Amino acid sequence: MTDLPTSKLGEALVKEGILTPEQLAHALRIQKYLEQPKPLGAIVVELGYTTKRRVAEVLKKYGSGMRLGEMLLEQGLITSEGLEQALRIQKEQNLKLGEALVQLGILNERTLLQNLAHQAGIPYVEPQLGMIDPTLLTGLSPEYLEKYLFVPFTRDDEGTPVVVVHELNEQTTSQAIQDLYKGRYKLALGPLDAIKQTIQDFRSFKQNLGKKDKQRSVEEDSIVQLVNQIISTGIDERASDIHIEPMSDVIRLRYRVDGVLVYKMDLPKDLLPRISSRIKIMADCNIAEHQHHQGGRILFNHRGQDFDLRLSIYITVHGECMVLRILNKQTGLIDLEELGMNRLMLDRYRTEVLDTPTGVVLITGPTGSGKTTTLYSSLHYCNTVDRKIITAEDPVEYMIDGLIQCSIYDKIGRTFEATLREIVRQDPDIIVLGEIRDKTSAETAIQAALTGHKVYSTFHTEDTIGGLLRLIDMDIETFLISSTVISVVAQRLLRRICDQCAAPYTPSPVELDRLGIKPAEVREFDFRKGKGCKHCNHTGYRGRIACYELLILNEDVKEAILQKRASYAIRQICVESTGLISMREDGISKVIRGDTTFSEVLRSTPRTVFMRPVQQILAMTQ
Ligand SMILES: [Zn+2]
Repeated sequence: MTDLPTSKLGEALVKEGILTPEQLAHALRIQKYLEQPKPLGAIVVELGYTTKRRVAEVLKKYGSGMRLGEMLLEQGLITSEGLEQALRIQKEQNLKLGEALVQLGILNERTLLQNLAHQAGIPYVEPQLGMIDPTLLTGLSPEYLEKYLFVPFTRDDEGTPVVVVHELNEQTTSQAIQDLYKGRYKLALGPLDAIKQTIQDFRSFKQNLGKKDKQRSVEEDSIVQLVNQIISTGIDERASDIHIEPMSDVIRLRYRVDGVLVYKMDLPKDLLPRISSRIKIMADCNIAEHQHHQGGRILFNHRGQDFDLRLSIYITVHGECMVLRILNKQTGLIDLEELGMNRLMLDRYRTEVLDTPTGVVLITGPTGSGKTTTLYSSLHYCNTVDRKIITAEDPVEYMIDGLIQCSIYDKIGRTFEATLREIVRQDPDIIVLGEIRDKTSAETAIQAALTGHKVYSTFHTEDTIGGLLRLIDMDIETFLISSTVISVVAQRLLRRICDQCAAPYTPSPVELDRLGIKPAEVREFDFRKGKGCKHCNHTGYRGRIACYELLILNEDVKEAILQKRASYAIRQICVESTGLISMREDGISKVIRGDTTFSEVLRSTPRTVFMRPVQQILAMTQ
């Protein structure tokens, strides 16, 4: 055994009961005989002893005893060649290893700081002035903070201040903090530019304070302020959901922006009970409840605008995990022209779907595909003084003047069924059912259409044909479907290329092939792609655009439904006789027009059986 190399990671894995000592010895023996050096973490995963995730967790927990290079290697964040290269530069230029890795572009600064924080066993924090416990700023001047480059952040359960620094072993900073807090403090690590910006904001705040509002209380509860800041930042960064997730040692804060989760920062784990109590108070939840999942709603005012937030609290092994969905963005109501339908499609949608006085219109897609936005834009278009529009929604997501909107509320007995019974007695022209979720609601929609109403609803299906098939599967008589359903719309959201960092780009033949496109078909077009910048959170995308599949039923399609034809046959009829463009085809036209990328289309749209040549797609999507 003595000739085997030792491994801090290996020891930690054994200590955690993830590996047996025999498994460790086996893995180390394999490592020794490999020609190409390989991290132990990778070997034990390959051997099936554990998962990558567990290795990362153990590295995080035991990181304090490990060297940075070792830690990054074990996680596969850098290669051994990259490490060697950085070590050379480190010696030549007398840098820290982390600095060398960042300078070489092998690692970004954020990942480096996160790992350094994990290595030291402290949280990674991106401070903002609004998140800071104001009592900690009392008596501190911006000049002093600027000199020593740190900011106090919050207090833990025992009232000990947590201070954010950008470097752990900086002598003068450490000494200043030591003196200030008499040795009683905890550290967190954060990026230098965020620390500098916070100090800058503190200075402007103080200057403004002197001018107008001397009375502003610095005693305002810091947790109230922290939670408000978390929500405000989410709204400012255009998040649809805010995730506050307890991990084993920190609280992870993430935002979903343009459909993708973006890691924001860690918060000290000690804050969890106070954050959850505060959020529960805001949402009118039971504060004493810690054993059961619960939900609630928060009305939040941000810059004079009201936002409706929906809270879900999920009990996890590490504590209460909170997700806030941001609803009721009044700015979310957009005109039909801005939805992303091409001109030909929009003309047909207006004249053949929206302007038709009766029938059922279904808008389909998975959660988060933007169907509610399309629904509301359509209603906005139909919202005239001579039409009565009435809704049954679960819940009302946007409030539109002139509409009679009702939120379903099961708890007090205002159920979907009870609401549907009453809705037709209100003498409406247009009925909106938030969602068709079962046979009862489907039948209600069809009944209402048969009695001369126009009915709009959403439906969870993959595409337009899927919507028709679901109705058939619900045992609705096919003649009822074919005589009432006038149109099915399906959609997906594609991320828009960020205009600030877009650069010319040539799609690879492999990428094109995965979409069934031949390179020759697109040779004449210029493509672009975002390189990633501050403006787009380094994703290369900002905002989203919808791609659509608009099915308007004609006699051939109705006949196919009556005969209960198979989905393939119905789709073929739709494509050939109604000129149906699939979401993927519509997406491809948007790539060629410079709105989005092939990888977005591939990621977000279902495969198309009947794909047209690119030239034909372009001609049909003008
Ligand atoms: Zn950008």
